Amino acid sequence: MSIIQALESDNLTELQTIPKTDFHCHALLSTRRKNVEEWIGKSLAKPPYKMNGLEGMMDYVSVTLTPHLMHNKGFEFVAVSAIEDAIKDGVVILEISFDIRLVNFYQEGLNSLQTFIKSLITSFHGKIDLRPELGIARDCVKDQQLMNLAFQAIELELFKSIDLYSHEEACTPEEAKVLYTIAQKAGMKLKAHVGEFKDAEEIRRTVELLELDEVQHGIAATESVEVMKWLSENKIQLNVCPTSNVMLGGVKNIEVHPIRILYDYGIPVTINTDDLMIFDQSVSDEYRNLYQTGIFSSKELECIRNTSLSLSQLSKDK
Ligand SMILES: [Zn+2]
Repeated sequence: MSIIQALESDNLTELQTIPKTDFHCHALLSTRRKNVEEWIGKSLAKPPYKMNGLEGMMDYVSVTLTPHLMHNKGFEFVAVSAIEDAIKDGVVILEISFDIRLVNFYQEGLNSLQTFIKSLITSFHGKIDLRPELGIARDCVKDQQLMNLAFQAIELELFKSIDLYSHEEACTPEEAKVLYTIAQKAGMKLKAHVGEFKDAEEIRRTVELLELDEVQHGIAATESVEVMKWLSENKIQLNVCPTSNVMLGGVKNIEVHPIRILYDYGIPVTINTDDLMIFDQSVSDEYRNLYQTGIFSSKELECIRNTSLSLSQLSKDK
């Protein structure tokens, strides 16, 4: 069955068998909450449907999830389970970010984290194209010790891409420039979270300064026709996570999600999960939501899926 037929007949099981990509997900929070509940043997409070931005999300994470996951065993359980979830959902290319601070979960530091990630690649070989991404929270950029670790991590040639996230005000793109220059020299794909809540101009500024290949979210580009045209002309891919945007308040509800406008301006958009443990929508669920709310037709979603698969091939060959 094609994705068009699966969407039109609302066949989620078929939809899950169709090859898709996930270019925006964070390893520590990327499996379904129910898997964690099963693992720890107790139920966890659901996040509120509307959280107050990143602050609200971090409040929920620190109270409900952190106590169970912020250690070596918790992280390793989630990472394996996240990849299994992605495979079950038909994701064939997974760019999953590993935060540099995960090194703290290992006595042997970066070497042990590297060994674990390599073991993931080996054990899931043939089932999914796993592309580890180096994740840096913006508040870590001013920490020289963590930055030294990040430089060492880049040298490993394990990470295929780099991403910057968390509060935009915590560091300017200028402050992350050295890191991105080194990552670029190492042949990594450059990404950063920007424009999740506001400021189209900041999206363009960050892309130019850090020479980004892709933007995580970037939905605030719709504030400026000029910025949208610029993104389109420069073929800057936006890795959008619709449910995350709604639950964190960047978008009022899915029916008015601006991904449609970005697509109409010719900007390459992809559909992703962000943090499955919180937002609870797989890539297939997100395709289904965008179809059922009438944001995209089934043919347009097929086009987005094909483009995502071909773009990821291009970046692999880069
Ligand atoms: Zn994200």
